[in-house]
Amino acid sequence: MKVLLQGLGFEKECKYVRDYFYRTNMRASIYMSIVVVVLEIWMIIRMTRTIFEHNLQSRFAYYFEKYYLNYIVLLASGALMLVCAVRYIKGEKKSSRAVGLLVKWIFTLVCIYFGIKVSLNDYSKGEQILTFLTMELFSLCLLTWKPYIAFLISASSYLYFFHRIDQMTAVNTGLIGTTDATKVNFFIMWLSTMMVCIANYNNTRAQALKDQNLEEVNTYLSKISVEDELTGIHNMVYFRSEAEKLLNYVTTDRESIIFLFFDIENFKSYNEKYGFHAGNDLLKRIAHMIDAAFNGSLVSRFSDDHFVVLTRLDGVQNVIGELSGEVKRLQKEVHLELKCGAYKPVGDEADVSLACDRARFACNSIKKHYDRTLRLYDKSLEDKFHLKQYIVNNIDTAIQNGYIKVYYQPIVSTKTGCICGLEALARWQDPKYGLLSPGSFIEILEEYRQIYKLDKYIIEAVCRDYRDSVDNKKPFAPVSLNFSRLDFELCDIVGYLCEMVEKYDVPKEFMDVEITESALTVQQDFLPDAIKKLREFGYKVWLDDFGSGYSSLNVLKDYHFDVLKIDMKFLSGFKNNEKTRPILENIVDLTKQLKMVSLTEGVETKEQFDFLGNIGCERAQGYLFSKPVPLEELRERIAAGELKVCRDISIKSA
Ligand code: C2E
Ligand code: CA
Ligand code: CA
Repeated sequence: MKVLLQGLGFEKECKYVRDYFYRTNMRASIYMSIVVVVLEIWMIIRMTRTIFEHNLQSRFAYYFEKYYLNYIVLLASGALMLVCAVRYIKGEKKSSRAVGLLVKWIFTLVCIYFGIKVSLNDYSKGEQILTFLTMELFSLCLLTWKPYIAFLISASSYLYFFHRIDQMTAVNTGLIGTTDATKVNFFIMWLSTMMVCIANYNNTRAQALKDQNLEEVNTYLSKISVEDELTGIHNMVYFRSEAEKLLNYVTTDRESIIFLFFDIENFKSYNEKYGFHAGNDLLKRIAHMIDAAFNGSLVSRFSDDHFVVLTRLDGVQNVIGELSGEVKRLQKEVHLELKCGAYKPVGDEADVSLACDRARFACNSIKKHYDRTLRLYDKSLEDKFHLKQYIVNNIDTAIQNGYIKVYYQPIVSTKTGCICGLEALARWQDPKYGLLSPGSFIEILEEYRQIYKLDKYIIEAVCRDYRDSVDNKKPFAPVSLNFSRLDFELCDIVGYLCEMVEKYDVPKEFMDVEITESALTVQQDFLPDAIKKLREFGYKVWLDDFGSGYSSLNVLKDYHFDVLKIDMKFLSGFKNNEKTRPILENIVDLTKQLKMVSLTEGVETKEQFDFLGNIGCERAQGYLFSKPVPLEELRERIAAGELKVCRDISIKSA
């Protein structure tokens, strides 16, 4: 029913569709009115010529009333329609809208009236009634009327026309009235006119709806191309293009502009603790705070909790100070802090990406420095920045040239004090920068998604070391490898591990995998599967850095691990913090209940080691026994009797 009502034009259309009809009508009426105007001018000229050629000037009044008046009325309505349509097309939409509709009505009715008049005249002379038909089609079908309006106009005009000819004497038969055949023909003609009207209306309507959809999609796309979907402020793409324009404007005072990169410290923990929606709300609030604080400047959200602003230097410090206070006020139990890195372009520098990178670098350099909110990119940061670029650009060369080394740190049994495992830790022995520790390259490799290259290299190096030890009857112990969360995403790290284990014939019990707790708090579909697969293949999976985040217990709930590595932060407060001991004791108990092996990292004193033994923690790792050392050094220390390898393990390896 609804469809029928819609098809006949009874349903109220939305504004877009109404506008579309109006536009189509205005366009069509331009052609129609031009034809009408030209035709009528021609008719007037023709009539005038006939009058003069036949010297009929004396009957001008008669001709005027019978012909000229009609021509003039039609000409006038055509001209009116033309002016209206042209004005609309030229963009003077609002003023002419109501008038336009009125003119359309006048034009239609005049056309039909003219058609009826001419065709009645023609019919009386035995001619065809083509003018009437043409005018019906012209004004009802070319101009799109709603079907029910077209019905009213056409039905009344056809009826009137029919009624008039029904009273005339037919030229061919000499009888008054119309024959049955004429009646049927007439009805069919009217039906056809109506059909064309309905079809035309529905076609135009369908086209309008299609256009409306397209336009909505387009509007949405163009909106999200410059706008950040979550916060509604500008996005990175917009920022970059606008910042580039600004930097390249001759009139921009470069001395006074500055790039600011904002990061919300502990946002991840906030998200973990309060959930995704609360996290999003926080981002929106902070986005609008930054936007308001830098009103008139270029403000954008780059990704996650990262915002970038291009603004003027004056007063920037105060604004950031105030903003930082506002953000602090938003915190609940999770400590929130706004960190800002700033970069002032030098000379005629116009590289927006580099400027943002540097501001971000400055920002990252003050993370975890609780007393600092703002850091300007300077010479000392520049050196670090260069190291970062060096690392990203040289990881492949470092791997190829063997600059990456595996250091081993013993893991000791609290019962026997012997080595029951080794943790493989990467080192970069660089010809330019010297010995680099993971702290200076792991995060960068993760940021640039290159970490898998290093981890694959370490896997093979450890397997090779195992083979070498066995072949040369040297002691060795099961090794735990550090896998990054990204390894599972960027390559088939499990497949690669299996391949290497097979290639060097390493027993699976000699290869364990450490996954850091923070990796598991990020929602990722493939990680649970990958962990399951590792365990199914026979590898032990360890949870590294347990207790370093906010959802440690959730991780335990959702995954199964063989070994729980208790983060070294627990031991750091061993001496002064009374709570440390009961907490550690509880964690160790929990580990037992969950049938996992407990290991505490960062053991530096004998006292700590004894305590761990007493509370039943099975393994310990830390500087008390050894720092991470190259394999050679480890072997020497074992040979010197400084370190012992647990019997059951060394027998297996030999
Ligand atoms: P982690 O896995 O938690 O490794 C333990 C870190 O604590 C090591 O630092 C180790 O040298 C240090 N450590 C061990 N015992 C003590 C102690 O008694 N006191 C103190 N203060 N520190 C101790 P390192 O070797 O600098 O490694 C840092 C981090 O880099 C590692 O943390 C690990 O997350 C990452 N990492 C190291 N090698 C690799 C690797 O091959 N692949 C991946 N993906 N990450 C690695
Ligand atoms: Ca580790
Ligand atoms: Ca750790």
